[in-house]
Amino acid sequence: MPCPTCQKPTELKFRPFCSKRCQLVDLNHWFGESYAIPAVEAEVDENADWPDPLTPPNDS
Ligand SMILES: [Zn+2]
Repeated sequence: MPCPTCQKPTELKFRPFCSKRCQLVDLNHWFGESYAIPAVEAEVDENADWPDPLTPPNDS
């Protein structure tokens, strides 16, 4: 099943999405807000870890 946001193969970690970005895009959609994050191919590393509140920043 492809990512509902961008139709790319899904990532196990983000199922049913391919990335956190697509997950957030879909969330925004369900919250009734306009797409704050462009659902287009962006020049970003979709596999990069986004800031996680449960994980303290590694400053060193
Ligand atoms: Zn996607």
